[in-house]
Amino acid sequence: MSLNDLIGFFVPRRCANCGDSGLGAILCRRCHDKLPWLDPNQCSQPLPLGLGRTVAALALRDDARTWVHRFKYPGRGLVGLDPAAIGVARLLARAAGRRAPVRAADRIVPIPLHPRRFRQRGFNPAALLAREIARLHDSRVETNWLARVLDTPPQAGLDAPSRRRNVVGAFAVVARREPAASRVWLVDDVTTTGATLGSAAEALRRAGVREVMGICLARTPDAHPV
Ligand SMILES: [Zn+2]
Repeated sequence: MSLNDLIGFFVPRRCANCGDSGLGAILCRRCHDKLPWLDPNQCSQPLPLGLGRTVAALALRDDARTWVHRFKYPGRGLVGLDPAAIGVARLLARAAGRRAPVRAADRIVPIPLHPRRFRQRGFNPAALLAREIARLHDSRVETNWLARVLDTPPQAGLDAPSRRRNVVGAFAVVARREPAASRVWLVDDVTTTGATLGSAAEALRRAGVREVMGICLARTPDAHPV
């Protein structure tokens, strides 16, 4: 029993969203069910750019948008230490991870931040999600295989062709640490056109990975036009 479980045993945990009794869960049943979950039959879509499929748990709207934003951009000085947002992000990561047929031999790789952005932000949200998904599947997370070698401007606000151009050559597999796995799951918080995942997948495939799939918490409603 972890310390959190122990505390939850004596003090019923409150729902991170509404403050009602969550009966030990991070979100109460009502707030959990209110999230814009994607239909499991429609949570997986083919992607362009050499990526197999990607699964997502939620549509990026309503409360899902709020929680993802709060997780990615905690208040000044918090550097990733917003416990409610991290708790919800872990819950969402497990939900996304359960929709992905990860096998023990697969490796889980978070989309890396450029070192400059990492220093600025203090943590990589995708790495935290990747660790949660790896725990769920008893798989291994690799945070040092893939590096972001170009400090590209944010994708937000760009149209689909600009998003693709923006991330061309942005990733590289770090020499002498080449992936040995034949199947890799790339993890990111949000996907829109799949351009970032696709560019990272290309780098992994050039390094010999046979199959690259994606797991994201949420996708924008117009994601992945095929
Ligand atoms: Zn609630």
